[in-house]
Amino acid sequence: MAVQTHRGSCHCGNVAFEVDLDLSAGGGKCNCSICRKTRNWSASVKPEAFRLLTDPGATTDYSRNGVVHWVFCSTCGVRPYYHGDIPEAGGAFVGVQLACLDGVDDAQLAAAPVRYANGRDNDWWHEPSAAEKAFL
Ligand SMILES: [Zn+2]
Repeated sequence: MAVQTHRGSCHCGNVAFEVDLDLSAGGGKCNCSICRKTRNWSASVKPEAFRLLTDPGATTDYSRNGVVHWVFCSTCGVRPYYHGDIPEAGGAFVGVQLACLDGVDDAQLAAAPVRYANGRDNDWWHEPSAAEKAFL
């Protein structure tokens, strides 16, 4: 497969976006303090591959460390994307929740590979235990 333009949104529709990404490249899951609680499964893209189509005022920005900003819809609470700038990880990025993409068929999502990261132990380049991976 190749890079395609997808549309995505929150639950209520106040937040909608367009993103250029290759779904066959899959996405990441992680056991860090926020990914685990939000069951984050996301693909990271460069900021220029992401376009917010709705009023930025419809969202709330949550950041605990000032590095990664978790954006959620102020009305329905769904978290369609997050963004940050981490030089060690390639600079500025937007993480798009694959579950928020609209119009992608189930087989395509099911075939997207999952990469796991052990963020809880600040060991981002290794996977968590098999038991933990099973429910992330
Ligand atoms: Zn919403």
